[in-house]
Amino acid sequence: NAKEVKGQVLVIGAGPGGYSAAFRCADLGLDVVLVERHPTLGGVCLNVGCIPSKALLHVAKVMEEAEHIEHAGIKFPKPEVDLAGVAAYKSGVVKKLTDGLSAMAKMRKVTVIQGTAQFLDTHSVIVNHTNSDEQTTVKFDNCIIAAGSQSSKMGFIPHEDPRIWDSTNALEVKEVPKRLLVMGGGIIGLEMGTVYQKLGSQVDVVVRGPQVMTGTDKDIVKIYTKSNEKRFNFMFKTQTQAIIPKTEGIYVEFKGENAPSEPQVYDAVLVAMGRTPNGLNLGLDKAGVNVNEKGMIATDNQLRTNVPHIFAIGDIIAGPMLAHKAVHEGHVAAEVIAGHKVYFEPKQIPGIAYTFPEIATAGLSEIEAKEAGINYEVATFPWSASGRALAADVSKDGMTKLIFNKDTHQLIGGALVGDNAGELLGEISLALEMDCDAEDIALTIHAHPTLHESVGMAAEIFDGVITDLP
Ligand code: FAD
Repeated sequence: NAKEVKGQVLVIGAGPGGYSAAFRCADLGLDVVLVERHPTLGGVCLNVGCIPSKALLHVAKVMEEAEHIEHAGIKFPKPEVDLAGVAAYKSGVVKKLTDGLSAMAKMRKVTVIQGTAQFLDTHSVIVNHTNSDEQTTVKFDNCIIAAGSQSSKMGFIPHEDPRIWDSTNALEVKEVPKRLLVMGGGIIGLEMGTVYQKLGSQVDVVVRGPQVMTGTDKDIVKIYTKSNEKRFNFMFKTQTQAIIPKTEGIYVEFKGENAPSEPQVYDAVLVAMGRTPNGLNLGLDKAGVNVNEKGMIATDNQLRTNVPHIFAIGDIIAGPMLAHKAVHEGHVAAEVIAGHKVYFEPKQIPGIAYTFPEIATAGLSEIEAKEAGINYEVATFPWSASGRALAADVSKDGMTKLIFNKDTHQLIGGALVGDNAGELLGEISLALEMDCDAEDIALTIHAHPTLHESVGMAAEIFDGVITDLP
C-alpha cells in the first residue's frame, strides 16, 4: 500500500549534483521531490568524500607545518594524537554542512523522502523507505538522476575483511594501522595515505603504471613524487597479485618491476582503485534509459538521457568524478527543465589533489595539447624564485606551469604543484573560461609577495618580459 506523491521534478540522490539541481529547480518555481537513501543530504562529497577528507588533511597539515618550522628556529614537542578528537572534529565539520543543506531544502519547500528509488516506468519510481517497511510511489513530469558512484570492488580482494578499507572506512579514523598499503596512485589514495602517514602509519603505495596521478604531466608529478619519497614507499609498475588475510595481518603478494620478493604483511589495506557509477541498481530498464555495463548513463550536452524528460548528472555520467562538475551539471539540467536554452559546455573542469604538496590542474595538459595537435608552448615559473614561497618556507620546489597556443598566445591549460596550489588555480580557471591570452595575464597586476604572482610571472616568461630567472 504505497503512498503516492507527485512532483514536477523528481531528483534521485542528494549529493552535490542532486541537491544543486533540486534547489535550482525550486528556485525556478518548480515543485520538487528529492529522494535520498541516507539520513543526511550531501551525498558522498559532504558525508564520506571531499569534506571529511579535507578536515583530516587540515589536521595532518598542521602537524606537518609544526614539524617543518624547526628550520626557522621553532621546535614543538612531538604531537600527541587523540584519534577520537580528530574524528569528532571531522564529523563536526560534516554535520554543520549537512544540517545547512537540510535547512536550505526546507526553506525551498523541497519534499525530501528518505529511501531507495527504483524506476517503475517512464513517469514513476517506487521508494523503499530506509528505516521502515513503508513505500512511496513518486510520479514525476521530469526526473534528474544524480545517484553518484561507489568505490570499485575487485574480484580478487577479500573486501569483507574489516582490515580491507575503502575510502569510507579510511575516513572513519578508528585506528592508525602500523603498516598501511594503499592500492592505487590516484587522488583519493594519495590524500588518505597522506593523512595516515602523518598520524603515524608506515605507508606503501602500489601503482600499476610508471607514475601517480595518471594523465597529469610528468614534470608536475615528478616534483610531487620527489617530495614524497620519504613519506611513502612507492612501488611503481607493480601490481597486487594476492591478498591473504590472516589473524596476525594481511599478507600481500606483488608482481612487477618493483615488487618485493616476499609477501608483505599489513595491518590495513586501502583499496583506492577508482569508482563505479551507480547506474545498475536503479531499474533503469523499466524507464527505457540506456545505461552501459559499467553503470554509466549517456547524456547529451543538456544532460538529457535517451529518454528526453529524464536527465542524468554527476558521477553517474561521463567525465571527471568531481563535485563541482556535478553541481554545474545539476544547474544546467534544472534550467533546461524550466525551459531555458542552456548547455553544459565548460572550457575547463579544474582538478585538485589536496596532497603535500598540492597538485592543481585546469584546461589541457601538455599531453592533451600534443594529442590535439596544437602548436603549443609551455612557460614555467619555479617557486624557488618566489619571495613568498621562500619567506613562508613552503614548496621551494613548487612550480607554476602555463600552456599557451603558440600561434594565438591564448592560454589553453595550466598546472601548479606546491603548497596551496589548489587555492591558486581559480585565476587560471577564469582565464581559460574568458579565453585570456598571455598578455591579459601578464598585464594583470598581481600582488607581491604572493604565490599567485607566479601565474603572472609565467605569463611574462612566455611574453619574453622575464628572461633571467635564477
Ligand atoms: P554522490 O555524491 O555520490 O551522491 C549520490 C547520492 O545518491 C548518494 O547520497 C546516494 O546515497 C544516493 N543514491 C544512490 N542511489 C540511490 C537510490 N536508488 N535512491 C536514493 N538515493 C540514491 N570531489 C571533488 O570535487 N573534490 C574533492 O576534494 C573530492 N574528494 C573526494 C574524496 C573522497 C574520499 C571521495 C570518495 C570522493 C571525493 N570527491 C571529490 C568526489 C565527489 O565526492 C563526487 O564527485 C561527488 O560526490 C559526486 O556527486 P554526485 O551528486 O554525482 O553523487
